[in-house]
Amino acid sequence: MPEKKRKRQKGRGFYLGGMFLIGMVLCLIVVALTLVQRSVPYTVREGRLALLSEEEALRLKRLAETRSVRPGEMKDCLLVTEPDEASSEEARDCMEPILTQMKLHYEICPCEEFTAEHLSECRNLILAVTQYQNLSEVIEPIKTWVEDGGNLMILYPPSVTGTFMTLFDLLGVKDYGYENQMVEGLRFPREFMIGTSGQDFPIVDAYPSSLSVSLTGDCTVYLESADEYPAPLIWRRQVGAGTVVVDNFGIMGKAYRGIHCAAYSLLGESCVYPVINGATFYVDDFPAPVPEGNGAYITRDYDLTVDEFYTQVWWNDVYSLSREYGFPLTGLVIEEYSDQVEGDFDRNEETGRLSYFGNMLLRAGGEIGVHGYNHMPLVLPNFDYRDKYDTYRQWPSVEEMRKGLKEVFEFTANLFPGQELQVYVPPSNILSREGRELLQETSIRTIASVYLASDLESDPDSDLSYGQEFEISEEDGIIDTPRVISGYIIGDYMKLAALSELNFHFVSTHFQHPDDVLDEDRGAELGWAELFSRYREYVRWLYGSCPTIRSLTGSELAGAVQRYDLLQVSRSETEEGLTLSLENYFDEAWLMLRLNDDRQLESVSGAAYRQVANGLYLLSCTADTVVIRYQQGGNS
Ligand SMILES: [Zn+2]
Repeated sequence: MPEKKRKRQKGRGFYLGGMFLIGMVLCLIVVALTLVQRSVPYTVREGRLALLSEEEALRLKRLAETRSVRPGEMKDCLLVTEPDEASSEEARDCMEPILTQMKLHYEICPCEEFTAEHLSECRNLILAVTQYQNLSEVIEPIKTWVEDGGNLMILYPPSVTGTFMTLFDLLGVKDYGYENQMVEGLRFPREFMIGTSGQDFPIVDAYPSSLSVSLTGDCTVYLESADEYPAPLIWRRQVGAGTVVVDNFGIMGKAYRGIHCAAYSLLGESCVYPVINGATFYVDDFPAPVPEGNGAYITRDYDLTVDEFYTQVWWNDVYSLSREYGFPLTGLVIEEYSDQVEGDFDRNEETGRLSYFGNMLLRAGGEIGVHGYNHMPLVLPNFDYRDKYDTYRQWPSVEEMRKGLKEVFEFTANLFPGQELQVYVPPSNILSREGRELLQETSIRTIASVYLASDLESDPDSDLSYGQEFEISEEDGIIDTPRVISGYIIGDYMKLAALSELNFHFVSTHFQHPDDVLDEDRGAELGWAELFSRYREYVRWLYGSCPTIRSLTGSELAGAVQRYDLLQVSRSETEEGLTLSLENYFDEAWLMLRLNDDRQLESVSGAAYRQVANGLYLLSCTADTVVIRYQQGGNS
């Protein structure tokens, strides 16, 4: 063999040997790290919010449901609707859950039954009516009632008829243009809602929804369109001893509840309502085997395999951000990614990766819950996927679903001993009644599906997601803790929904999937650096807007939802302020307090308080009676 060639081979031999050595060292490091992660025990974070007993919570929940406004009792609110009129029905469907969840004593009255006598039985009146000629008999009595201290809210822009125009002087409307206004963005000139400082909020589903009006100088505008010549969208006017609020935004729907709740809170002197106070971050499919998907953008941006990317880049970023802002992550285990729905569910023995990630998450105060043995939603052959999920299969029987669940519970319990598996997130947010029933056989106490499910009846393109409210289910006692927003893009609609929920429930629930980075529909092409910066921006906005919000794990959030859902509030106005009696107060209760007319707090007993927006205070109650005093000599 010529000398030259031999030398080259020798060189290659050395080179290969070096690679081998480096590889060995790397392997040893990985093994060592894994062992370190395994051997350092995680402890449950101290002061963790515990769940209330399921039986007791369910009993109290059912008790509260049977209670309603007694005849002759003063109501907080009367909601007048126009049955069989589309806008009125949509507005009622939006407002009714808002009033229920603000724990207000309210009644709904169809406009044909509404008479002047009703006015003496309520503090606040909401008109969800399109054709005001249906109210022509009561227009004058309403005006007198407001002068005398009643509070009137116009819930949405109606048809501008002669009858409605007779209300213009009461509502502070000076001028009116016949074309409705297209509102493409929201601006909050007085920062009366949390999270609205220094930014506008674009509207994605804009249509000519608002009346074009100009107002008299004695109106205060709280929300306007983000235009050079802004249109007033929510304004308030003091009239004699009463107030008028016009909610001219005009777009209803679950994602906008917080805006209509905030408008309602401007009625009268003050408004108080319970909130959850919790921010929870879920990581679906985590820990789990390496996700499948299009790794092309990972290769484009990083010289790494998908597996390496997740360990070295993705987790590093996601974990560091959670540490920076001090929020725990709630991970949802997938044991493996087959489509198996029957037979023997084999144990996944390759647990190094799951154990490494899961233990890190737990040691940082996080929580582990269950997503599934694999990613096949808990549905039976009676469930129709409507050709939307080509790769999904139904489980042939409840028994097979049970076997799959049993396997993932045992697997997870072995991997993370001592972890109570209480949180369940349905794969692809799909869950059947039978699947839910099955979960009751397990240690699961809370189901976190989605808050904003699309409606299959009205939208054939919708997904099949399982929609929830923040509540204890009256049927099975499981606590519903829906996720409001998701992913890394966090577009305009999601941002507005997040803003809305921050103000309505004082809650933020976000979920991410590791494979969001691999999915073009979820922004893969933008690259991880851009996606992560958007996620980081959301977190910065959240904790920047409300440093007081509590960061909770999934089961802690469920505990907070139990307390919130069971809490009943009785309000009585006094000369000096407001006295609140809390029923079903356990160990904590959180209330939002809105003070109008620049009223300032003088003292609060039974609660600590903190200002969270202009005129808005978060109360942390420490007793079941809270006495609020205002400073005298305000605007009132
Ligand atoms: Zn998933």
